[in-house]
Amino acid sequence: MKIFYDFHIHSALSPCADDDMTPNNIVNMAKLKGLDVIAITDHNSVKNAPAAMAAGESANLTVLAGMEIETAEEVHLVALFSTLESAKAAEDIIWKSLPPIQNRKDIFGNQIIMDENDDILKEVDRLLVTACSLSIDEVFNMVKGLGGIVFPAHVDRSSYSILSNLGFIPKNLNVSFVEVSKNISDINGYISGVSCLKDMKALRNSDAHTLGDISERENYIEIPCCDIGKIFDFFRQNTI
Ligand SMILES: [Zn+2]
Ligand SMILES: [Zn+2]
Repeated sequence: MKIFYDFHIHSALSPCADDDMTPNNIVNMAKLKGLDVIAITDHNSVKNAPAAMAAGESANLTVLAGMEIETAEEVHLVALFSTLESAKAAEDIIWKSLPPIQNRKDIFGNQIIMDENDDILKEVDRLLVTACSLSIDEVFNMVKGLGGIVFPAHVDRSSYSILSNLGFIPKNLNVSFVEVSKNISDINGYISGVSCLKDMKALRNSDAHTLGDISERENYIEIPCCDIGKIFDFFRQNTI
């Protein structure tokens, strides 16, 4: 069956996202849009994933714990995890590798952690939108070691993407999936026009920072049912 997805959504924990990107608002908007599965992928943190997963469970929407990791090369990678425990283990590693820079709310915005009722639990003081000290290689190994999926984010963008910063995709990463931003209307044309993306599959996520930007019911994967195990099987079976 076709499972309509959006695997790259920021919550109010990302300082650059709207404060009304609350767990329930995101889940309800995704339901309104007709999506079957979403992932919460805040910058370098999974602290709003538990609330979003609980909200998803109440609304019968599959929510994955994810994270948009900024590597030492200032490349954004989207990591998705099959369990909250593995997501938290990854976050612990990323947290230790983030520089101890304080967030400046007046410049970057709020970093809000919420519970499943959208009540504010606390704010994260350390700036999340910055590069960690782990390389792309190290992040790939770490995420895969925890049973997660990792793919380069918005490869077509001119900043914070693997192509803008490295100019190529290292073969040893065995990348099978790349995220192409919604600015590209002809995904297949784009992939076939960039030689190092040949044979790779494209995912199109919203990278939403506002509720209205969450994907419409347009992008899907074909799997037997919308079960987290089946979603991860899909990625593993389609891996080079
Ligand atoms: Zn990004
Ligand atoms: Zn993003």
